[in-house]
Amino acid sequence: MRNSIIITHTDGPNQIVDLADLCTECLRDTSIGSGTFVNRVPSTRQDGVGSPIFDGWLCVDCQMVECDDCGRMKLDYVMKPEGGAICNECVELAPWLDHLWVVMTHPLMQLIIGVVLGFIVGAYAG
Ligand SMILES: [Zn+2]
Ligand SMILES: [Zn+2]
Repeated sequence: MRNSIIITHTDGPNQIVDLADLCTECLRDTSIGSGTFVNRVPSTRQDGVGSPIFDGWLCVDCQMVECDDCGRMKLDYVMKPEGGAICNECVELAPWLDHLWVVMTHPLMQLIIGVVLGFIVGAYAG
């Protein structure tokens, strides 16, 4: 655990607070040797217009999202179109019709739908 020196500078109208290796949510140290280095992702946080921008990392715990189906905190999840999240495990376990939106919003599926629709329209028009 090292002491992070917090450096503040300004970028246009914004005050930037450099958190170095700290998590922008829980302020936990994510430096090498902290045990949270591998799964950290770059992160910035601003709590509102005009407030300082915190530049740091998001630790693995703060990346987790509560699954709407099983209620567990999960790292692998997809966002529902209506809001909320569901973990990949639940997506796989659930009847696929329940999660048709996952299939339908997949880029490959949209491509297939596009081709099929084009074919049907083409068949009727021709
Ligand atoms: Zn955190
Ligand atoms: Zn789940």
